Amino acid sequence: REGTWRVSAIPVRGDGGMMLSFEDVTDVEHAGQMRRDFVTNVSHELKTPLTALLGFIETLRGPAREDAAARDRFLEIMEKEAARMNRLVSDLLSLSRVETTERLRPTEKLSLREIAGTVVNAVRPMADAADVVLRLETEEGLETSAFDVMGDPDQLQQIVLNLVENAIKYGASGGEVTIRLSLREREAVFRGPGVQLDVIDKGEGFDPIHIPRLTERFYRVDTHRSREQGGTGLGLAIVKHIVSRHRGRFRIESAPGEGATFTILLPAA
Ligand code: ADP
Repeated sequence: REGTWRVSAIPVRGDGGMMLSFEDVTDVEHAGQMRRDFVTNVSHELKTPLTALLGFIETLRGPAREDAAARDRFLEIMEKEAARMNRLVSDLLSLSRVETTERLRPTEKLSLREIAGTVVNAVRPMADAADVVLRLETEEGLETSAFDVMGDPDQLQQIVLNLVENAIKYGASGGEVTIRLSLREREAVFRGPGVQLDVIDKGEGFDPIHIPRLTERFYRVDTHRSREQGGTGLGLAIVKHIVSRHRGRFRIESAPGEGATFTILLPAA
């Protein structure tokens, strides 16, 4: 079989023979490579804003010293870069928190409808600034408690927030973002009912070839765009881990020019 193998020769006592042992270390090798890549990526992501900060400090000490307008402009950029580093470190901490124990015991019964409402209120100013109309749609005739799931309130709020913020950041050209809540009566994957939350934007979307890699840490369709938007490249990796800890499913659909839909499906409480 193709892969990485560790071969050892062990002398067999008594008869002077040798025993050859073949051990498949492909996975170990792969995990090591992933770890090395991760450290390289993190260092690079932190180094970019740091280099900018150091450059601006230098300029403020020298040429821009007496120029008040330039000073204000540079300080603004420095604040942005520092804020990006801050977000990156927070996201790294979130990710490592949700990665350490793969499966959490659900802690509380909470309504995904209420969480979505809280998130919509929180991001309203961001949506207004981007000229995006936010819509929260709930399947008709259902109470808030119909969308109850078991979970960690902070983590569930974080995934909805990540998806809605992305929809506003990358889908703003579409002018509207819809958060839709519905119930799935019989969900084969959980052998029971499921609560579904879709975040739908009508922006530029992306080629579906990116979909399998979007939940990798630091994978971006357009790195420049993500950076410009203050992205860390970790948002969807965090979503994937939190959803899987809640025994849920996470699905992405998109096509160029047709917006994108991000779907979370959780077992109903
Ligand atoms: P970032 O911090 O870069 O936004 P994410 O992990 O949240 O990182 O998203 C990864 C990438 O997925 C983004 O850089 C962007 O290219 C793409 N993406 C995420 N959401 C959308 C969306 N709603 N529309 C188009 N592209 C998106």
